[in-house]
Amino acid sequence: MAILELKDVKKTYKTRKVTTEALKGVNFSVDSGEFISIMGESGAGKTTLLNIIATLDRATSGSVILNGQDTSLLKDSEISDFRRRELGFVFQDFNLLDQFNNRDNIFLPLVLSNEKEAVMKDRLSKLKSALGIGELLEKYPYEVSGGQKQRIAVARGVITNPALLLADEPTGALDSQSSESLLKMFCKINEAGQTIIMVTHSLRASSYAKRVLFIKDGIVYHEIYRGENERQE
Ligand code: ADP
Ligand code: ADP
Repeated sequence: MAILELKDVKKTYKTRKVTTEALKGVNFSVDSGEFISIMGESGAGKTTLLNIIATLDRATSGSVILNGQDTSLLKDSEISDFRRRELGFVFQDFNLLDQFNNRDNIFLPLVLSNEKEAVMKDRLSKLKSALGIGELLEKYPYEVSGGQKQRIAVARGVITNPALLLADEPTGALDSQSSESLLKMFCKINEAGQTIIMVTHSLRASSYAKRVLFIKDGIVYHEIYRGENERQE
């Protein structure tokens, strides 16, 4: 089943002097359970594409259907609820709040959607061992390493059981060892059923995804599927 479908998505940025066609007609669909990487150089249109999928920005034309909903038809008043319900986010710079300990950072999206405390605790107890974050929960973000912060951020991203997890350069601020361990964690949550789209300019990071879409000048110009036996230890 397609979780996400993009049809002829275009995005034009207009300023007084310059018009930039950041996306020139992007078409692809993502099935439930896929782990996709979108890869391209700086300026290719990755962030624009991700922001449109994330409902943080609207396409100039074309349609984006996420979990059965044409997102261009959502009213502004409906968008943040929809985003909270359907999407989880992981950012390059973690976006954790230093005022709250790691546990409360993870709970934040559930608190914002008025989830019951018992449900929150149950979800966290399932994630805790899978993500290796048990020891980090009472600490504050500034007390843990970058790699550990990103594990907390991934837990926050998936705790709402989103239809789709969106990751924007998740390894961008990590050393190679932490990157590898984060990407293995992505593979693990993907194997448990989480659909993931990761944007990166790193071929090494992309190689963990099952399918890689290459974008350049606002066009997806190539895609590759990873062989079944690679990256399995
Ligand atoms: P990437 O994430 O692959 O680096 P972007 O999506 O950020 O690419 O940018 C694609 C193109 O759109 C670039 O030419 C960029 O300069 C332009 N662009 C991105 N955001 C804006 C904006 N808010 N206003 C004007 N131009 C933009
Ligand atoms: P970049 O791709 O330049 O590294 P970020 O990963 O920080 O940028 O953010 C990507 C997009 O997501 C930006 O448009 C930003 O406005 C938005 N964003 C960043 N943090 C949050 C957040 N906590 N909640 C919602 N949107 C966010």
